[in-house]
Order: sequence, then structure tokens, then C-alpha cells
Amino acid sequence: MTSMQSLYKSCTLCPRQCRARRLDSETGFCRMSSEPLLGRASLHMWEEPCISGTCGSGTVFFAGCSLGCIYCQNRSMIPDSLIPGGGTDLPHCIPASSEELSSLYLRLRDAGAHNINLVTAAHFLPHVIESLQLARQSGLSIPVVYNTSGYERAESLALLEGLTDIYLTDFRYMHPDTASLYSHAPDYPAFAKQAIKEMLRQCPQPIWKENLLQKGVLVRILLLPGHVREAEETISYLYAAYGDALIFSILSQYTPLPLPAEDPLLGRKVTRREYEKLINHALSLGIKNAYIQEGSAAAESFIPSFDGGIHC
Ligand code: SF4
Repeated sequence: MTSMQSLYKSCTLCPRQCRARRLDSETGFCRMSSEPLLGRASLHMWEEPCISGTCGSGTVFFAGCSLGCIYCQNRSMIPDSLIPGGGTDLPHCIPASSEELSSLYLRLRDAGAHNINLVTAAHFLPHVIESLQLARQSGLSIPVVYNTSGYERAESLALLEGLTDIYLTDFRYMHPDTASLYSHAPDYPAFAKQAIKEMLRQCPQPIWKENLLQKGVLVRILLLPGHVREAEETISYLYAAYGDALIFSILSQYTPLPLPAEDPLLGRKVTRREYEKLINHALSLGIKNAYIQEGSAAAESFIPSFDGGIHC
């Protein structure tokens, strides 16, 4: 066990702070042991244009999650003990050591990736840090994107300083009630606010190379059906706090998948009218750095197949 991996001993990596003894095979809320599991690695074209570019983002999807939203779009990589309808024992996911992760990043770079994009990696942070250190020592020089739900401890993000170039983060909820209802995390707004502050401390301004982001913080606002007002509050808060230091991505692509039957809102797509109302709100604030979506983007085809495959 390395000193970094000793963080799994009594795990407080994410805001759940379960203190699970993951080195002894005990699991916490995220249901993951101390061995990273991958759902997929490939060149990915469906991130924002400044991330995917023309050749794709070298994306590594980690299995498990510390948030566990009931509307999760990636549930085949989440144990069904955490999200009903998720995978059982995740036999399609593959384990990877720090050395194997490092080699994978280099393979993705050699396949033409503009960047290395680590998706939902918070619960494997010790391995992520080790693997990035190894990859940097082996000559990895393209940007590293840390792609997160926003449910992070600022203290954990601080460990990524100097290893991560771009934070690609969701900001899902402003209201503890919504965060509790959909993600069992009433403390989400408080932690996400501190997380964004830490991300911007590390990456205070966007840096571009032609049309590709090299450094910065891109915040995603996924509009949920029936939640326009909360999304407006989120954008207002973030823009008042950080202005154009943040790049916004305002998403209408929420896809209804099988859900707990009792939820009255999440079983439908976002309407055009809801999305336009949110965009008009963002424009009225004067936001300039923002991606918006044209037409209907809500389709299951936007969700990659999480087959454990390494496609590079
Ligand atoms: S990473 Fe997992 S085990 Fe660790 S605190 Fe978070 S949910 Fe608990």
C-alpha cells in the first residue's frame, strides 16, 4: 500500500465521509472497494466542443459514484444496491492499477485525444493522483480534465493541484430539499459551492489554444424538468460570484430513464419552453462564456455503452 492509498483506510474522500475501511474490503456509500473499476475508456465526441474538439476527448469512465442520483444516466456502471436498475456486481467493468491507468492515458493520447478526461473519479482519488504522476513522468503533456458531479470535498480537490488542468463540473442543485430528494445529499449545495471555489483557486481564468480549452473551469447546468427556477438561481449565484471566470454549459439533454414511480416530474423530457426560459435568464445576466444546445438533445444515443471496453 502506498501512502496515497492509505486514504482508503478510513475513507473521507468525498462529502459522505463514511469512514469505510476500504482497504479491508468494506465499502461505503459509493459501494466501491479500493481497487479502481473502469466502465469504459475511449475517444469521446459528445463533450463540449472545447473539450472534444475534432479528434475527441480521451475519456475514462470510473464505475461507482458517491452521489447516486435517482435519474442517473450511467447506471450500468453503478451497483444496483446504490441505484435500482444499476448493474449487479458490475462484471463488465474492469479493474485497473495506477500503472495500468497511466498506460491507458498514454494510449489515449497516442490515439489522438486532445485531453485525458477522468469521469466520476472522486472515490478513486488516490489511484487517480498516482496514475497522473506516473503519466506526467512518462511525458503526458496534454490537459487533464477532472469531470465531476460537483459533490466534492475541497480538501480532496486540493490534492489534484498541479495535476488537473480543467475542471468540468456539474452544479446540480441550489436547494437542499431537491438534493435530498434526487441524490440523498441535502449538503450538496454547500459542498458544491466550496468545490467550485477551490477549482477556481487552482484554475482562475480560462486559457485557450485555438478553440480548445487548456485550463479553466467549465460548469454544467443540467436542467431538470420542472426545475427552471432552481436552475436560474444556480446560474445567478455562480455568475454573481465568479462572472466570466467560469464557462457555462447549459444542458437540455436530460433523458428520462426508468425511475421510482412516485416522482411526478422526472419521467418526462425538458420542454423547449423551459429551456428557452433558462437561456433567456442567462442572457439577461450578461453571461458571455456559455454553451447552449440547439434542437432536442435528449436521446439515449448520447449515452455511451459502458461495456468495460478500452477503445483506443
Ligand atoms: S468515497 Fe465512498 S467510501 Fe469514501 S467517503 Fe465517499 S462514499 Fe464513503
